[in-house]
Amino acid sequence: MTTPLETRIRAEIAATGPMRLDRYMDVCLGDPEHGYYAAGAPIGAAGDFTTAPEISQIFGELVGLWLVQCWIDQGAPDPFVLVELGPGRGVLMADALRAARVVPAFLAAARVRLVDASAPLRAEQERRLLGSPGLSEPPAWRARLDEIEELPLFLIANEFFDALPIRQWRRRSGVWLEQYIGAEDGRLTFHSVPSSGAEEPPHAAPDGGVLEISEPSRAVAAQIGARIARSCGAALIVDYGYSDADRTNAGWLETFQAVRRHQPVDPLQTPGDADLTAHVAFDDLARAAGPSVAAYGPIGQGVFLSRIGAPERAAALARAAPDRAEDLASGLRRLIDPDAMGALFRAMALLPRDRSTPAGFEHIEAASKPHQP
Ligand code: SAH
Repeated sequence: MTTPLETRIRAEIAATGPMRLDRYMDVCLGDPEHGYYAAGAPIGAAGDFTTAPEISQIFGELVGLWLVQCWIDQGAPDPFVLVELGPGRGVLMADALRAARVVPAFLAAARVRLVDASAPLRAEQERRLLGSPGLSEPPAWRARLDEIEELPLFLIANEFFDALPIRQWRRRSGVWLEQYIGAEDGRLTFHSVPSSGAEEPPHAAPDGGVLEISEPSRAVAAQIGARIARSCGAALIVDYGYSDADRTNAGWLETFQAVRRHQPVDPLQTPGDADLTAHVAFDDLARAAGPSVAAYGPIGQGVFLSRIGAPERAAALARAAPDRAEDLASGLRRLIDPDAMGALFRAMALLPRDRSTPAGFEHIEAASKPHQP
């Protein structure tokens, strides 16, 4: 089956030559008509993938309380923007806002701003979030972070950065080859192009190593860092990903992947119909955020959630609703077990320098990361 996007991609390749991987991802995910996120309902049991807030309400509740604590620690600025990048079906923010009702001043000071590229998901977020009690203004949607007013910034991004396009290089016999997509024999194929000069990544990698860099992710992280440094705030980034040390220890592995109906698929088949992602390079984001913010982590999602009270919250909910006890326990296990999401997913926090360590990151030193492209 040829998707409408495949026809367009082939026409572009025929006209201008092989397409760089980041452009391919951008077209497949973001095309306003036929792109993956334009089409519909990727999240949940009936979709292509399931996320932490969809598994258990505890995730969004604790993220909400974590943000409230950071806000109090920084003098409870009023007003401030409460931002979510890529809110999906709006479940995380709904749970966070409900939990935050224990601190009414937080909700009264919050200007909720949601950034999402998907029209159908935005519509679902509106249904779930407009009318949230306790806010002094209704939530508002913005196309990009830089369209949000400059106020103290308290931000959550869960499984957002993995959706942003990457460039990918492979080290072969001392040369970096960059990944492009070409067309051959009537189908899309991977196509390597030797890099030269400014296009060459300045990394010493082992032969066979793969390097992935997400330029849009760096740009978003830089904006988050600049705003937090200027106006205060905190950002919590949760995703599957790796640190520099993981890459060195585990090998320089490729993480670009396509998923459809909870199964891995060929990323060049059915463009626009599969979710394309890459693991998040946490240290790269921390460096892009700049030297004026402190980065904590990444640490395992399981460790983070356990430290900020997920087991206690699950137990309290189960006491209040004994018929849900089993569901709550199994949801908690999926979030924190190292064999489920607990170790693959990581959490990283960005805060102004010289602030107290945010909850959950105790005993984790804020990394001061020298700039390294
Ligand atoms: N955070 C949600 C959804 C994760 S799926 C959850 O945890 O359930 C990724 C989300 O990011 C979707 O809502 C998708 O529409 C959005 N997204 C993907 N690429 C984006 C982009 N370039 N700009 C803004 N939003 C984007």
